[in-house]
Amino acid sequence: MRFLPLFFDLTTGPVILVGSGPQALAKLRILQAAGADIRWHVLSGDDIEGADGAETKIGLPADEDFLGAVALVASAGKEIDERLASRARSMNLPVNIVDRPDLSTFIFPAIVDRGDVVVAVGTGGASPVLARRLREKIEEILPERIGEFASMMGRYRERLAALRHRGFSTRRFWERVIDGPIGAQFLAGRTAKAEAALIIEIDRAGTDRPAQGHVSIVGAGPGDPDLLTLKALHALQSSDIVFYDDLVSPAILGRIRRDAEQVFVGKRKGHPGIGQSEINRRLIEAAKAGLNVVRLKGGDPFIFGRGGEEREVLEAAGIAVTIVPGITAALGCAAEAGLPLTLRKEATRLSIVTANTAEGADNIDWSGLADRTTTVAIYMGLTAASAVKSGLIAAGRDPNTPVAVLARGTRPDSRSITGTLSQLPMLAASVGDGPALIVVGDVVAHSQVWKEAVELLEAAE
Ligand code: SAH
Repeated sequence: MRFLPLFFDLTTGPVILVGSGPQALAKLRILQAAGADIRWHVLSGDDIEGADGAETKIGLPADEDFLGAVALVASAGKEIDERLASRARSMNLPVNIVDRPDLSTFIFPAIVDRGDVVVAVGTGGASPVLARRLREKIEEILPERIGEFASMMGRYRERLAALRHRGFSTRRFWERVIDGPIGAQFLAGRTAKAEAALIIEIDRAGTDRPAQGHVSIVGAGPGDPDLLTLKALHALQSSDIVFYDDLVSPAILGRIRRDAEQVFVGKRKGHPGIGQSEINRRLIEAAKAGLNVVRLKGGDPFIFGRGGEEREVLEAAGIAVTIVPGITAALGCAAEAGLPLTLRKEATRLSIVTANTAEGADNIDWSGLADRTTTVAIYMGLTAASAVKSGLIAAGRDPNTPVAVLARGTRPDSRSITGTLSQLPMLAASVGDGPALIVVGDVVAHSQVWKEAVELLEAAE
């Protein structure tokens, strides 16, 4: 490491900038963003456009221009740059010559600027392009409101420091704030609520009462871990305990923070599971113990996921809840199968329904789904495929309507099969184990999986 990253307060004195090409202008912008008082030297009068309030002079800096300066930045051509660099070095003035780490005593990193949170990435000048690529990756994973979150914590630092008493650890306090419900709420945009909760926690810290935990009800998507949202990933990485269902794939469990406890609360063939009220009880218990709890569900928690029920029970128990949406099976499976769920003129409505009687599907009103322009996505329909077929046909849907059965969508063992509505029970019986989604509608004929099946048939003829 030749260059140590430091954060430089540029408001302590003027910065000399020499040159007027695009690189010098880029430095002008970044110095302005840092609040620097800039003395900008251009070599000809034509170049001062874009000065935007910087004090501008024509010609190279003279001795008096160096007075009080805290740094020199130049991009004015090889010879001038070399002379300026040796002059600055002889005065022990920090100097940066753009793209010449050999002449510089400091270099500019690629930066992620989120207000009070600034991340600097450097490659010692070896590859600014690589530094910029890394910066982009960091940009993607940093929550949008991280800078505001830092400023908010900054406002309460002194108040908390005043509480430092008998072994009270401010470090652990802030870790809990960052990784816990307050952080989750703030980053989710509920800034006022989060700030109110922080004030309560600070008051509690003064009295040693235990902290209250929080539950995030998180959608895990259909199986492929790359389909987790950034928020879901963040919740998994900052959890203490995760309660998950059978629909959550092993690849997704692999993204949970290593030290977090993983508790399976789903149902599996021959195992009824612990039941909804026991799940509720455990969620409440874990949150009351001050843990950062994640309730992880396949797809989206608000689509046939009982997320709504759990949220109500938890809120009634006085526990803060955050909902993190997930990609629901219909969207994940449709994307994988190349199946547009709506299509201009042909399919103008998408209905998401369940065929599971336990979810209340016994009195499904099929008549509302008989229209040709409605695409029907049926969840939990594998065992009820015959009822789906007869219900739709009796309501007037054409028995020749294209259908697709999409099993284990977005997982390594996914399989799809297509045919017509009248063949649905046979198709459902041949895809193997669930979970599987049934899609009924003319759009199925536009899908990749349909076209592949047609090609196979033609090749066989
Ligand atoms: N909350 C979930 C749905 C839970 S209900 C979501 O939003 O996706 C369970 C049903 O979802 C399954 O019976 C099946 O119809 C569907 N499903 C879930 N994951 C699936 C997958 N990977 N492939 C196909 N269907 C899936």
